Amino acid sequence: MVAEHNPQEIEKKWQQRWAEDKLYQVTEESTKPKWYALTMFPYTSGDLHIGHWYAMAPSDVYARFKRMQGYNVLHPMGFDAFGLPAENAAIKHGIHPFTWTMQNIDNMRRQLKSLGAIYDWDREVITCQPEYYKWTQWLFLKLYQAGLAYRGKASVNWCPRCQTVLANEQVVTGGFCERCEAAVISRDLEQWFFHITKYADELMEHDGIDWPERIKTMQKNWVGKSIGTDISFALDYPGVEEKEIRVFTTRPDTIFGVTFMVLAPEHPLVAKLTSPEKRAEVEDYIAQVRQRSDIERQSTEKEKEGVFIGTYAVNRLNGESVPIWIADYVLMSYGTGAVMAVPAHDERDFAFAKKYDLLIKVVIAPPGWRGGELETAYIEPGTMVNSGQFDGLPSEQGMEAVSDFLEEKGWGKRAITYRLRDWLISRQRYWGAPIPIIYCSHCGIVPVPEQDLPVLLPENAEFKPTGESPLKYCDEFVNTTCPQCSSPAKRETDTMDTFMCSSWYFLRYASPLYDAAPFAPGKAKYWLPVDLYTGGAEHAVMHLFYARFFIKALRDMGLVDFDEPFTRLFNQGVIIVERQKMSKSRGNVITPDEYVSELGADAVRAYLMFIAPWEKGGEWDDSGISGISRWLNRVWSLVLEPYKVKPKAAEGKPGAEKAHRDLQRIAHQTIRKVTNDLEKLRFNTMIAALMEFTNYLAKTKENNGTVDNSAWKESIDTLLLLLAPTAPHLAEELWQRMGHEYSIHNQSWLRWDEELAKDEEFTLVVQVNGKLRDRITVPVSVTEAEARELALNRQRVKAHLEGKELLKTIYVPGRLVNFVVR
Ligand SMILES: [Zn+2]
Ligand SMILES: [Zn+2]
Repeated sequence: MVAEHNPQEIEKKWQQRWAEDKLYQVTEESTKPKWYALTMFPYTSGDLHIGHWYAMAPSDVYARFKRMQGYNVLHPMGFDAFGLPAENAAIKHGIHPFTWTMQNIDNMRRQLKSLGAIYDWDREVITCQPEYYKWTQWLFLKLYQAGLAYRGKASVNWCPRCQTVLANEQVVTGGFCERCEAAVISRDLEQWFFHITKYADELMEHDGIDWPERIKTMQKNWVGKSIGTDISFALDYPGVEEKEIRVFTTRPDTIFGVTFMVLAPEHPLVAKLTSPEKRAEVEDYIAQVRQRSDIERQSTEKEKEGVFIGTYAVNRLNGESVPIWIADYVLMSYGTGAVMAVPAHDERDFAFAKKYDLLIKVVIAPPGWRGGELETAYIEPGTMVNSGQFDGLPSEQGMEAVSDFLEEKGWGKRAITYRLRDWLISRQRYWGAPIPIIYCSHCGIVPVPEQDLPVLLPENAEFKPTGESPLKYCDEFVNTTCPQCSSPAKRETDTMDTFMCSSWYFLRYASPLYDAAPFAPGKAKYWLPVDLYTGGAEHAVMHLFYARFFIKALRDMGLVDFDEPFTRLFNQGVIIVERQKMSKSRGNVITPDEYVSELGADAVRAYLMFIAPWEKGGEWDDSGISGISRWLNRVWSLVLEPYKVKPKAAEGKPGAEKAHRDLQRIAHQTIRKVTNDLEKLRFNTMIAALMEFTNYLAKTKENNGTVDNSAWKESIDTLLLLLAPTAPHLAEELWQRMGHEYSIHNQSWLRWDEELAKDEEFTLVVQVNGKLRDRITVPVSVTEAEARELALNRQRVKAHLEGKELLKTIYVPGRLVNFVVR
């Protein structure tokens, strides 16, 4: 008897050895082709739970597979360390965010090391360290020099409890803060923006990259490009200088159906146009709207409401006066801040018109329409009616004809609008990279000179939120001298959105210690773009979008020579527990540590891959991982317990030859299956194939012992090599015990021989009542049920069975199937 498999012992031993030998250290000096496999780096929130491992274990398996395939593989790891959660947790626990974050990193790094991945820890990046954020600031300056960073006033989503600005995506349905669930309000602040809209068109396209369709669609929708027409409505009020209101529409064919217009409550014309008798009501309404966030205002669940301001604009095409309303669902930051309302052909306008009893005028005839009232808005294309000289035109032609007419008259022009806004990067919080800008009363906005970077985040600042930037109250930080004129000046006190830190970290891994730029040009050129990027689908818009913007901006500055950061993107699914998402509040968070110490990291790795297709995710189940652990233990004894050859096999008898051929075929089929599954990231079926192969070997050993020693050893080597990416520790230990050279992880991936993998075939004779009716070529592995099914589906057999009663089926394996009928 061999000693039992003891994962705790062998896993620690090999992790230590690999680290000492720097087995997974990567350099650019290699004749092999490069492969950059990247997993989204974790946020430093505390413990890694099993969901993190679900992101990391399969991607490590894939990286190991590429490595064995002969690639020079970079598979780095680091930590996304700035941001609100760290700051909030630090406040809650009464420790400094830096201390809290670094403690978490120590723990997370320990957990990650126990996973046994091929991370080259010499390349670790931590975004809150000055050596890193120095370059985040440098990149800000580059964007500023390129005209892509600017200062502007903006209405922002403001969480009164977190005391900070929130991105639209951080405000959840109903207008609540994603983190603390307080109601979000709107507020105006002077802040920094990145001119991401400059790249709107390019960011909508995903040419030459292999990304999931749904992520591409989400990004397209986020850009929200609309092609339409700007139209001017006439104003004529004494004392009002403006003589028009401009709107944007994608449906100029409905222009004759405009029965009112709606301005954003913040629209500068509202004050001028409100009639004296409506003033009090309008002001009340505006005051209410100020308490709401943009997200809440645009919520589709909320009933639309508004106020008539007492004046009218003129639709120049038909000379009609249309009442002007204000309503919170129209945003000033969106389009022109004014919309023309066509209730007959727009759902929102229809509901609004019904609520306030406004005119609904059909101008696009639905099919079969007889001139009656509409039950609901008709939003499809149709034929123009009640539209003067345009009557009878189909919508598509109508849009062109109306636009042509407007352009001719000078009443409008074709235009394109986007839903995408510029990226607001200012945060009024402590725990982030300071924005490297100085304000001088003589020189204005002065960028911090490159040689003065990093602008260090002062450790001693009070970081509790007050609604203003905490750095404002740190005198030694704020007060400085102007780099241009040397007079006293003040520093910018906002910090940068943490999405800025994560927009370029994949570049830093190429040369993490380089101190002349964020990345060494030659090394970045060697490693990038990332060949496979894996992570959660929740990053579809912000992170993945911003990273693409960064690369395009850097490309245009001549700093990189590629267009897209991530050539292939793959989103893994989510691990659930008892049919629920893991969360601290539910108390159902699974940490890998307890399973690693009990069953070993190899078992946890293999189980995570076996649960379900990776992109789907699945349910964690303790009995499932026990099954996987038993399988690995079986591999252990299969390899180590002595193999006894039957004399017949040793003498090379005919039966032995067949047994050898069978074993060879199964081995080559397994190599083929495992390789193809790994290429496609189908880890669950890859594990199943390895289990089947293990079973086959166990049978060969227990029942037959019919292959000779060298054939047996070769099959065991095959099993270990195929298992190496999945269970790196077990495979390494057994490889050594089989007398092979260290390390299995430096071995080449196996290739299969298509000839050897081919299923053996024979001709199956099909009879009906003993008479030959057909012949079918089938694999030798065919089962009785499969043979019967195949035979029953043949035309020539069917013809002889029609209208007859099937009494019985006689099956002679390897020869024939005979249907007895009456
Ligand atoms: Zn909040
Ligand atoms: Zn100055």
